[in-house]
Amino acid sequence: MSNDTQIVTRIAPSPTGMMHIGTARTGLFNWLFARRHGGKFVLRIEDTDRERSTPEATQAILDGMAWLGLDYDGEPISQSARSDRHREVAETMLANGTAYKCFSTQEEIAAFRDAAREKGESTLFLSPWRDVPEADHPDAPYVIRLKAPRNEHALVLTDAVQGEVIWGEPLDDMILLRSDGTPTYMHAVVVDDHDMGITHVIRGDDHLANAFRQAQLYRALGWSQPVWAHIPLIHGEDGKKLSKRHGATGVMEFAEMGIPAAAMRNYLARLGWSHGDDELFTDEQARDWFDLGGIGKSPARLDMKKLANVTGWHIARTDDDELVQQITDFLALTDQPALSQVQKDGLKTAMYCLKDRAKNLPDILDKARFVLENRPLDLDEKAVNSLDPVSRGILNELTAQLQNASWTRDTLEGVLNAAADSHGLKFGKLAGPLRAALSGRTVSPSVFDMMLVLGREETLARLTDAASLGD
Ligand code: GLU
Repeated sequence: MSNDTQIVTRIAPSPTGMMHIGTARTGLFNWLFARRHGGKFVLRIEDTDRERSTPEATQAILDGMAWLGLDYDGEPISQSARSDRHREVAETMLANGTAYKCFSTQEEIAAFRDAAREKGESTLFLSPWRDVPEADHPDAPYVIRLKAPRNEHALVLTDAVQGEVIWGEPLDDMILLRSDGTPTYMHAVVVDDHDMGITHVIRGDDHLANAFRQAQLYRALGWSQPVWAHIPLIHGEDGKKLSKRHGATGVMEFAEMGIPAAAMRNYLARLGWSHGDDELFTDEQARDWFDLGGIGKSPARLDMKKLANVTGWHIARTDDDELVQQITDFLALTDQPALSQVQKDGLKTAMYCLKDRAKNLPDILDKARFVLENRPLDLDEKAVNSLDPVSRGILNELTAQLQNASWTRDTLEGVLNAAADSHGLKFGKLAGPLRAALSGRTVSPSVFDMMLVLGREETLARLTDAASLGD
């Protein structure tokens, strides 16, 4: 690849289920790498396996990409739509002698393997048809196999993450086209990556062994290989390969937990890649910093505590309007009732006192209840218990005192502190019933913030409601 070649990366998921966070991370790495270099990032849906591929899974990939904000160039490419081209390449290889027709049946191959196993010999199947001239071919179904060089003892692959990797085992002549004319995964990937001009294949290291075979095919075709970069898979907190038993593994499960996409991008970027000690960063920084050299060789562990920290940082620095929008989207995604315009306005006004310690979007909603709910509030049990007769009496007095107070933080602090003093109470003792009256619960933003957000009229009405409880 010359220096002025435009970088083209891709994400090539097989649509066979939900979109795994491993796929999302691979997508993110490819996206960051392409965007950093002003290159292209493409999406290819690897739906050649017709039995396992479903339209729902394809949709799940599109949804996952959209949610995570991984925009790709051009339309998604369907691998199955390219099967004519896969066939054409295999035919060309037949014609130029880099591939051959193999008429061995599956039964014959299985019988060969059984016998070899019994004799304690290698079960590597080397087709007897490799050098049989066309004139001696039967009229029978065949597969097309790669005529791989037989003198390759050790194959070496240079990988941007793994370094020099050696494959010491002999490889059989892999099948390119099945007897029904459909391409194998190995063949389709190489043809597609070549045709799409992919310069860098960044993917999970579960594909490292495939890369050796794919490299054979590139050589047979006389095509230049992409830069290979195989990333270690994501592990769970116990160090084992991530699976359902670790909890969420689908990218949309994180969306449904109320993790904003920007936080997820930050977190996923750090899962296997690093830039010094930087843990918290913006998309712009990730784009400026991302390089293949920063990808580690050992598997990263999914750590929900770290994810919460990263999320908290992103939420705190997100613009209030944007957070209201994210919450609106989150409610729709999780089939919860939408917010009215009044509620959205209230949420926005209150956002400054909600977003600082929130670890996800539901945290914000939880703290926002005081501004989202209408009078009369539905008080929880602890809140009701804090409104004993004495406290209610004080709230009643306060209602009168606040009638004409100017509605600023300083004045409100003065009035409330004076009220606490006059009853020989610490301010905290007064804050409990006030909090209960204003929010209906015992955990909420500060009473001053709630009063300022709610305004005089609503505050006084809530205090009056609480003061008259039990009457
Ligand atoms: N379709 C393969 C997968 O979903 C990825 C192939 C590739 O990246 O080369 O695992």
